[in-house]
Amino acid sequence: MKTDVKSLTKEELTLWLKDAGEPAYRGAQLFRWLHREKVCDFSAMTNLPAALREKLAENAAPLGLVLRREQVSSIDGTRKVLLEAGDGCLIESVSMLYEYGRSVCISSQAGCRMGCSFCASTLNGLVRSLSAGELLEQVYFLERGEREPVSHVVVMGMGEPFDNYENLLRFLRLLSDPEGRNLGARHITVSTCGLVPGIRSFAEEGLQVNLAVSLHAADQKKREALMPVARSYALPELMEACRYYVGKTNRRITFEYSLVKDRNDGMEDVKQLISLLKGLNCHVNLIPVNEVRETGCRRPERERIRAFREALEKAGIPVTLRRDIDASCGQLRNRA
Ligand code: SAH
Repeated sequence: MKTDVKSLTKEELTLWLKDAGEPAYRGAQLFRWLHREKVCDFSAMTNLPAALREKLAENAAPLGLVLRREQVSSIDGTRKVLLEAGDGCLIESVSMLYEYGRSVCISSQAGCRMGCSFCASTLNGLVRSLSAGELLEQVYFLERGEREPVSHVVVMGMGEPFDNYENLLRFLRLLSDPEGRNLGARHITVSTCGLVPGIRSFAEEGLQVNLAVSLHAADQKKREALMPVARSYALPELMEACRYYVGKTNRRITFEYSLVKDRNDGMEDVKQLISLLKGLNCHVNLIPVNEVRETGCRRPERERIRAFREALEKAGIPVTLRRDIDASCGQLRNRA
């Protein structure tokens, strides 16, 4: 059994190396190579003795992911990659340049078992959850060789992050470790489909990470039709957890709302949304649905999207419209 060193904290690395008879400072050295230098090849770790480098190559799990496909937009430079892990499973990640910096969207699982009706990631179910090291490597991969460093990370690719809670938390702590990549927690966003126990636990972690919740409908029946998870965690329970999160962390929640033609894009829908969110410290991110052939979900006309947005603005709810990137959520993997 090879050790997944990239998922270990500095303290855990130090202990692991100590058990192998290495001095304590080797842990800090290795941690630095992994998370500061972002090196994937033990032979490049030049301040470690050759014998240790060989031992590591033998006993540690592979550090990298292999590029299988890549797509770069000629319009805005958005870069989508399909990466392969050691066991052959495929992961999708996206890098986007904004005025404020480089934002990277990563996957938390290969596949997904949440079954949302508009989403491509879930079409073939869950393959497996990703390790903390595999989450980190997606960020490092998209940062290597780029002029602009990654300034923001969103866990909004394939998979449900709260269905991989322990590895997610490990990832968040490693990514923001001052001795590692040192990305500010406030620059990281985790998106959940609404797993209530996850939201409640997340509120207790003492992290400054942003939380986004996929709402997609303010009506229980409509939400169930779009997202099977709504049957397990109904709207009143979900909203109570969100209020608890906001109260506990003093942080604003983002609600994602993918607009699907004739399913959740009407004036009645926006009215219900406004009354559901009244008084909550939140922000709505509207996502005109990316049309995935197998799902039959269609994007509303531009005029309808505008009306939906304006109604929210008029009600005093901060709203943004997501840039059209025909991006992640399993769409590249399914074409491979
Ligand atoms: N499992 C997490 C993260 C997934 S993806 C979650 O559900 O939040 C990030 C967002 O994109 C979610 O709001 C998800 O519902 C949405 N999404 C997935 N497929 C989409 C599609 N084809 N068009 C528009 N939004 C989509």
